[in-house]
Amino acid sequence: MMDMVTILSYSERIDLQLELATLANEITNKLSGNSISAVIGYGIKDKVDVLSKNFDKVFVIDSEDLKLFNPITYANVLLNIVNNTKPDIILISDTKRGGAIASALSALLDTGCITEVTKVELVNDDLVIYRGAYGGLGLAQTKILTSPKIIAVKPGSYPRPTAIKNGIIEEMKVDIKKPEIELVEFRAKETGARLNESDVVVVAGRGVKKKDDLQMLEDLAKILGGVVGCSRPLSADLGWCPTWVGMSGVTIKPKLYIGVGVSGQIQHIAGIRDSKIIVAINIDPNAPIFEYVDYGIIGDLYKVVPKLIDELKKIKG
Ligand SMILES: Cc1cc2nc3c(=O)[nH]c(=O)nc-3n(C[C@H](O)[C@H](O)[C@H](O)COP(=O)(O)OP(=O)(O)OC[C@H]3O[C@@H](n4cnc5c(N)ncnc54)[C@H](O)[C@@H]3O)c2cc1C
Repeated sequence: MMDMVTILSYSERIDLQLELATLANEITNKLSGNSISAVIGYGIKDKVDVLSKNFDKVFVIDSEDLKLFNPITYANVLLNIVNNTKPDIILISDTKRGGAIASALSALLDTGCITEVTKVELVNDDLVIYRGAYGGLGLAQTKILTSPKIIAVKPGSYPRPTAIKNGIIEEMKVDIKKPEIELVEFRAKETGARLNESDVVVVAGRGVKKKDDLQMLEDLAKILGGVVGCSRPLSADLGWCPTWVGMSGVTIKPKLYIGVGVSGQIQHIAGIRDSKIIVAINIDPNAPIFEYVDYGIIGDLYKVVPKLIDELKKIKG
């Protein structure tokens, strides 16, 4: 049971901090309390104004020693803010970096942490934390019995808030210990389109035979103002896309999802089921994806997609 709560939120991305602000403010509006944001990194000071409109307080730790990301270093820096603010709840966005920091912080604080969270509810002043289970077939309701509770929230689970606060921004200086693991080189990975930010996502599955054929899907996506993603085999096994859609990849909720040559295995469906309109093009009338679609086209994608592009071109002039 909680009455006054302090909630500390962290993400390396400002847009995801805003999603966490929605959840933090939802809780502090019901129970009284404070929402605090932690901004950690190098050269980030000028990016924090927007957060002060959405949190009661924003702590900024800006240091050249944080230029290269190291989860242990970042977790230790966050620990300083935790010791300073004594939060009851710590929200971290569950990106690759956020997930690593959440687990490191959980070990440092010897407290419970739940990852891949999609929803948090207050029931009788207690937090019920939801995450997918059994490959997306079920929803697990969990609780953290220790304090502070570390909750790693999947990006895209909460909308961004409209500005409501006039929070204080405070710069903090901390001693940043040299990490035991040294990063010798940092190479940016090709990230591709932000799949979970587009209203239209055309996803290629193994029905697409060659990498060059993805161009056809790019053309379709372009007409619809969308982006192209892949099922896991095309990304993880064939390396055609930097990331994939689904349970173990990116969860998407676009207005329109078009699966092209995607069979619709449950791990894929878990990442697309909240799309507003689901369309599938598949040659096999018994493909499982047809159980989830709003519109299904049974046919050879190599015939259907060019026709679709032609028709859309006619409509769009
Ligand atoms: C722990 C775990 C996590 C996983 N996570 C994910 C995940 O996050 N995302 C994900 O996508 N997968 C994931 N998978 C893999 C998943 O189980 C499936 O293997 C995968 O989704 C299948 O990809 P696919 O639909 O592209 O290929 P397939 O299952 O091979 O389907 C290809 C489809 O293309 C159709 N087709 C073939 N030719 C044509 C044509 N000419 N025109 C039209 N249709 C055609 C076929 O009928 C078939 O239905 C995971 C698996 C495990 C074990």
